[in-house]
Amino acid sequence: MPHFVTHLESAIDGTQFPSDSVQTLHAGRPLWVRYDLDAVKTNMTKSDVFSRKPTMWRYRELLPIGTDPIEVSLGEGMSPLLSCPELGKQLGLAQLSIKDESQLPTGSFKSRGLSMAITMAKKLGINRVAIPTAGNAGGAMAAYAARAGLESFVFMPEDTPVVNQYEADFFGAKTFRVNGLINDCGKLIREGATEMNWFDLSTLKEPYRIEGKKTMGLELAEQFGWKLPDVILYPTGGGTGLIGMWKAFNELRKMGWLDSATMPRMVSVQSDGCSPISDAFDRGERFAQPHVNAVTKASGLRVPVAVGDFMILDAIRESNGRALSVDETRISDWTRQACSKEGISLCPEAGACVGALQQLREEKWIDENENVVIFNTGALQKYVEVMTSNLITIDLDRPVDWSRLGSTD
Ligand SMILES: *Cc1c(COP(=O)(O)O)cnc(C)c1O
Repeated sequence: MPHFVTHLESAIDGTQFPSDSVQTLHAGRPLWVRYDLDAVKTNMTKSDVFSRKPTMWRYRELLPIGTDPIEVSLGEGMSPLLSCPELGKQLGLAQLSIKDESQLPTGSFKSRGLSMAITMAKKLGINRVAIPTAGNAGGAMAAYAARAGLESFVFMPEDTPVVNQYEADFFGAKTFRVNGLINDCGKLIREGATEMNWFDLSTLKEPYRIEGKKTMGLELAEQFGWKLPDVILYPTGGGTGLIGMWKAFNELRKMGWLDSATMPRMVSVQSDGCSPISDAFDRGERFAQPHVNAVTKASGLRVPVAVGDFMILDAIRESNGRALSVDETRISDWTRQACSKEGISLCPEAGACVGALQQLREEKWIDENENVVIFNTGALQKYVEVMTSNLITIDLDRPVDWSRLGSTD
């Protein structure tokens, strides 16, 4: 048997579907990939994992490809877990780390999900894919489609960050700028599906992106010696990363691979410019209301409607976690604070997590000795629109005023 997937399962009502078949949503909601975890455990040991290449494919028995060697890869995964003593000191934390996804192919953690989704699309015989995006997903899909030799189409709102527009184009996708929002882009893809015969790779509309994102949780467990941290802060848009990590921890626990007795408290972070998940959490609801007039420069957080809302909220509550939104106007400052303290290329989405962490420390919801991880989901370099400037201009036609360059003591 090449893989250990038993079936696909509706997250909303448990209906089962066969693996090895093309599937999208059921009842408008996502599907889980389910495994024979006993068989995985028999066929993969911790030392197998340890001896393999440092990519996300090192956990292959716990992924839909199993032992099949075919993978569409650009070397994604095993991102560094960096300890952050200076930022930790500022926030009153003895053990703060950042899992740095900025170093992944195409500069964001989107490469994990799309590497997996494109791998499976290719295996299932799909040769044309389309995606709506307002940020990093389009470039990542285009890159992996190029790698796999698939034809790709990317639709994005015209106010999408400029780097995201051009990267999709350079990676060979037919790229469209739409004078509307991301849901308008999604609608175009649905409307064109028959005529264009493309497969819709929208967030969570196919089952495999979560499995790629799951590897963030598997790596974290391995990097902490199969003990999990106390708190994880994750910037939430469509929620694939948070959902995927929680799935990873549960699968590892069922396999008996975890040495820690407790599971991490999952903290979902959004901007107050687009906060459907934190609003639903505050109201005690399982499903989110669409956020009207969603505005945030942290483009990965600008998801007014998440098809997996209940999966995010279930994971947060099961973990005794929190969902909160932070002040949009301060995201750039928090991002700069972390970049300048630690030298890590922090994206504004992770900057929002720094703000959330500050709040949770002030509330004493997080204790100073707890082990805390922030996910830096992307690279600062992709966000020229967010960058504020302290740059000083020098005019060579005039004498330099050295006092403006800063004091020497
Ligand atoms: C897409 C994205 C997010 C949100 O991720 P989800 O898993 O969809 O919630 C966060 N940060 C960055 C940089 C992103 O590109």
